[in-house]
Amino acid sequence: MKSFEKADVVICGAGSAGVAAAYFLAKRGITDVLIIDKHPPLSQTSAKSGENYRNWWPNNMMARFMNRSIDIMEDLAKSTDNVFNMEQRGYLYVTEKPENKLRDYLHHYSQLDVGAIRIHDDGKNDYAFLDSQSDLDGADILAHPSIVQEFFPHMSTNIQTAVHARRAGSISAQQLGIYLLEEARKLSVRLLKGDVIAVKKDSQGIKAVDLVIDGTQRRIQTRSFINAAGPFAPEVASYLDVELPIFSILQQKIAIQDIHGVIPREAPFTIFMDEQYLDWDEQEKKDLASDEEFQWLLDKFPGGLHIKPEGGKDSPWIKLGWAINRVAEEPLWEPDITPEFPDILLRGAARFIPGLKAYLDKLPKPVVRYAGYYTKTKENMPVIGPMGVDGAYILSALSGFGTMASCAAGELIAAWVAGDELPEYASQLSLERYDSKTSMETGTSLYQNGEL
Ligand SMILES: Cc1cc2nc3c(=O)[nH]c(=O)nc-3n(C[C@H](O)[C@H](O)[C@H](O)COP(=O)(O)OP(=O)(O)OC[C@H]3O[C@@H](n4cnc5c(N)ncnc54)[C@H](O)[C@@H]3O)c2cc1C
Repeated sequence: MKSFEKADVVICGAGSAGVAAAYFLAKRGITDVLIIDKHPPLSQTSAKSGENYRNWWPNNMMARFMNRSIDIMEDLAKSTDNVFNMEQRGYLYVTEKPENKLRDYLHHYSQLDVGAIRIHDDGKNDYAFLDSQSDLDGADILAHPSIVQEFFPHMSTNIQTAVHARRAGSISAQQLGIYLLEEARKLSVRLLKGDVIAVKKDSQGIKAVDLVIDGTQRRIQTRSFINAAGPFAPEVASYLDVELPIFSILQQKIAIQDIHGVIPREAPFTIFMDEQYLDWDEQEKKDLASDEEFQWLLDKFPGGLHIKPEGGKDSPWIKLGWAINRVAEEPLWEPDITPEFPDILLRGAARFIPGLKAYLDKLPKPVVRYAGYYTKTKENMPVIGPMGVDGAYILSALSGFGTMASCAAGELIAAWVAGDELPEYASQLSLERYDSKTSMETGTSLYQNGEL
């Protein structure tokens, strides 16, 4: 235990963020690093991830930050024989709107560092969707329903347009995290199971971190502390009297077995862009309207319902999610799940993939449920950098993108701690953006804030 009583850097949290921070510090030569977590590594929010990545972001700060993270992941995938199953199948955004209604959206993306936009319409169609593992970026726009049907016949004929963002796909969050942690440990980073209960400062800044291990209180002397506590980052910041502009919103996903083979195994991660009302029959509508507890099921639901095949070619599993919740709450270690969520999801998904109606009456068992927090800022950008006390740093608000961002985020926080040169996006991704007169406009729609 004695060897733990001092460390050059202490990291609170061994989620995707904390282990990436440790890895990139160690790679910079800062190896006297101690990660403290009260749970097993990667077992909290980082175990709930849908495990998708994309460079398709609606502002250049995030697009460049994510491009950097994807560059790092691609290099790691190459050097590790793809130990974390990185697969570039793209994100397929589908809508019942004709392509001409997407002009503003596409014009907006065409100005950003996300790659070129290629339109495929009825007259000219050289689109090839199974171009996985390619180095394509930008997006292919399937601008006619017949093209959507040709390549994605499981989709409703109401789908008019599809936007296939190419520098996107899936990774295993657990495998990536375990790889980074193991490599960091080889470079002598240490991991300790304990509950951080206080952070002490003196006239020079951070002085020590107090934690409880098996009921016994310990103190670690350190001059650098990284708060990577996920949903609990605001609580940990409060130990230093720092208030963070961060809140948590519970989101859920489910996985079921696609026993009728509705979703082709090679399908990309597919997102329904449109808002919708769920499809109830007249009697169901009356019943729901008369019950205060369930009236909300008649409200309009947001765009963003997503679905993908999960596992390899022979796996029967599909994963579905929908960030329908907009209400911030105090995070719990074991969040409650909404019992009716699987039914809501399948009803919504059947709107654009009619074959899923088969599961509405009889849901294949078991239904695997995931519930975790999008811990975020109102503009849906992370906070990575100094935390207001000398030697204190924050690495949080990774919202629904912490798996894909972890490498660039770890690299960035390591540069802040080491006092090295920072990338051009560093200030806008740190708390400094709230001081800046030129700080970014905060988006209100899902497309503006990149939640989709
Ligand atoms: C439903 C869902 C789907 C998602 N899908 C995707 C996706 O497709 N792609 C993507 O990129 N991202 C996705 N995400 C987001 C991603 O999972 C998160 O952004 C990421 O896991 C956050 O990692 P973290 O390390 O910040 O937090 P966490 O994983 O929560 O880690 C924080 C750690 O801090 C520890 N801790 C907290 N307080 C203390 C304390 N006082 N003492 C000791 N330890 C403490 C906790 O035990 C925990 O292990 C999704 C998230 C959810 C909820």
